[in-house]
Amino acid sequence: VTYHNRSQNTLKFLYFHLWPNAYSSKNTPFAKQKLQNGSKSFAQANESEMGQLDSLNFKANGEKLYYQFEDEFQEICKVALEEPLKPGDSITVTTPFRVEIPGNFSRMGRDGQSYQITQWYPKVAMYDENGWLTFPYLSQGEFYNNFGDYDVAITLPDNYVVGATGQLQTSSEIEWLQQKDSTTRQQMPFEAEDQTLPTPPSSDQMKTLRYTQQNVPDFAWFTDKSYNVLIDTVQDPRSDSFITSYSMFSDAYATSFQNSPQEIRQAIQYFSRKVGAYPYETYTVVSGALKAGGGMEYPNITVISDKNPEVTILHEIGHSWFQCILAFNERKYPWLDEGLTSFYQNRYYREKQDEPMLSGMEVLDFDLFNMDDIFDYVVQHQEQVALDQPVQGHSTQFTSINYFAMVYAKAPKLLRYLYEYKGTSEFDSVMHRFYDQWKFRHPGPEDLQKTFESYFKEDFDWFFDDLIQSRKSVDYAFDGQVKGAGDQLAIYNNTGVRAPVLMKVYKDTTVKHQQWIHGFEGTKKVTIPTDDYTKVVINPRKIVPESNYKNNYHYATGIKNVIKPIDLRSFIGIDQPGKNDLFLNPALGFNKGDGFMLGGVVSNSLLPPQNLEYSFIPLYGFESQRLAGIGKFSSSFYYQKDQAWHNLELGIKGKRFTYDRDPLLTYNKIEPYIHFQLKPKPFRKKWKHHFKLRSANVSREQEEFKLFEKELVKEKRVYHVNEFKYKLERQHQLMPFSTELTFQQNNYFVKTFAEVEGKLPFWNNESFLKWR
Ligand SMILES: [Zn+2]
Repeated sequence: VTYHNRSQNTLKFLYFHLWPNAYSSKNTPFAKQKLQNGSKSFAQANESEMGQLDSLNFKANGEKLYYQFEDEFQEICKVALEEPLKPGDSITVTTPFRVEIPGNFSRMGRDGQSYQITQWYPKVAMYDENGWLTFPYLSQGEFYNNFGDYDVAITLPDNYVVGATGQLQTSSEIEWLQQKDSTTRQQMPFEAEDQTLPTPPSSDQMKTLRYTQQNVPDFAWFTDKSYNVLIDTVQDPRSDSFITSYSMFSDAYATSFQNSPQEIRQAIQYFSRKVGAYPYETYTVVSGALKAGGGMEYPNITVISDKNPEVTILHEIGHSWFQCILAFNERKYPWLDEGLTSFYQNRYYREKQDEPMLSGMEVLDFDLFNMDDIFDYVVQHQEQVALDQPVQGHSTQFTSINYFAMVYAKAPKLLRYLYEYKGTSEFDSVMHRFYDQWKFRHPGPEDLQKTFESYFKEDFDWFFDDLIQSRKSVDYAFDGQVKGAGDQLAIYNNTGVRAPVLMKVYKDTTVKHQQWIHGFEGTKKVTIPTDDYTKVVINPRKIVPESNYKNNYHYATGIKNVIKPIDLRSFIGIDQPGKNDLFLNPALGFNKGDGFMLGGVVSNSLLPPQNLEYSFIPLYGFESQRLAGIGKFSSSFYYQKDQAWHNLELGIKGKRFTYDRDPLLTYNKIEPYIHFQLKPKPFRKKWKHHFKLRSANVSREQEEFKLFEKELVKEKRVYHVNEFKYKLERQHQLMPFSTELTFQQNNYFVKTFAEVEGKLPFWNNESFLKWR
């Protein structure tokens, strides 16, 4: 590697990342994070599936360079330079290295005789205005790499097909791939999924392939003997230059990859139009094993493990603009890379009006059935239960659900808000400006904000500070008609975030008027330009992510503002803003005392969870001829992240059933309860503390035959028990642990008991001893 010091400082050392060592022990940061995120696969890896990088011998100008490892697992290596490297100077450092390729646990790996060779070579770490930036390899957390010019030679048995970063320089191989393209096309269309042939033996003949590429932040390659190949040409709509695309896929992926050339073309052309021209000459999509998402992006190439790859191909190709060309610090700001990529991905499908469905969701009652909405509900759920985190977080700080919810769902939603606020053409031109100014230069979020502010001559702190860097949310609410001015409505800002919001005035379903209201604090009076309306709605399409959409409706008929129209539906469903939801569903039951029972479920149970929830299941017992059933009413409060309490639930539960019919024995139970939970600290640690206080009151009615009176007498007895329970839980994939302490009391007894249980792994973490 020839390293150019483009900083203002003299460098005495170079830091190298040796990321294959992430697979060298079951205690590496990668191994620990994988367990923490709920996967036991690497903890159960056997010796032959581990990986590492060794045999280093750094030299410069023929002289040996001394080096030391900066971390226990040798992922970060500090190499001392003989002569300090002055600003503007360069140095060539060489080293042999040997890599043991691990099994398939994350990104680099082997799956049979198919190889995914990524993060594989000693790589100089980034040195930027913050100094040297070194970090271990992780599954949850991507990269930040120097731009470089690559010249790579790969020697391997000659029946392997290779897909790699850069342009192939070996003409015999180019011809061979073209032959593969024609044999693949002869077999098309692929239909059956089950035509997988056994992997052919590796040829004795070796070949050496050469790839070169300028100005890319990484080099990855993939190889498989059974790849089919499709070659195509894409014209970039902004630069008019031609890009050669390759699709390489094994037989198992043949049916789903046969349209990939068109999908690659559409994706490249879309991102080129919306963001900027694609500056390289090739793009390759390969199928392959991957355990870190459905696809993973590298310069000029992506690996896809998704059997339904259209969306993933679009997404990973989109990364070329953000991961590769703008080359954000993905480890520190995953939202920039994934958020922008996902924003354009969602926008592509909205514009095509052809949103792919998520399988299995058809049965649910989603009115607007698309990925945007489903992602929204994940975000809303996290916010509602106060488990969300700021969008601008470091990869390693997110819980695994928030890495998805904040980075892939909330960030694109917020970007869509900016886009809707500014409109298509203005948004596209500011992004073109940002791209042209910052390509190949590693911009950060502050650079994106500056570009927006200088382009629009407007303050965007409400976006970058409040919505991206903090957990603050937006909530505007109607505050009724302004007294003495019938055409004016008051809107109140509940959270203080000065975010712009769209208001629409409807006559039934027709929009009579709409306007963006600039952000404000406190109360703002808005004039409704017509009195011929049925309702006024703030944020009607939920473009602005608000913490409460229920207060966004003002009805012209006053009574509807007091009693919202009831929306009666069956099955569970999604909250309808502007309406009160009521769900009715049939219910069946059976027990010995009541016999067969028929009734219904009445509830407001909604997605996302509500602060006030109820559900009643009244049932009629055909044998007992009595009314039975259960009911629950609860109110939940969730607390902010910096407070010790996480949530508090107050509620009351009731139950009424028949134990026996002859003689009759029935009971009613009423149980008020308080349940609270401590906030796990720090956020990713999985220790949970629960406290539960309840008072169970049971009244039993029993028929007893009194011998003396010679008659059946009904006797009623009332019992109650007060209970306090504390539970400590450690959620861990290998060594879970929990303890529960219970204290019970009533007029007749006081009782306390404890229970402790856990698991101990053995035999390579594949078996467990459960103790209690
Ligand atoms: Zn992505």
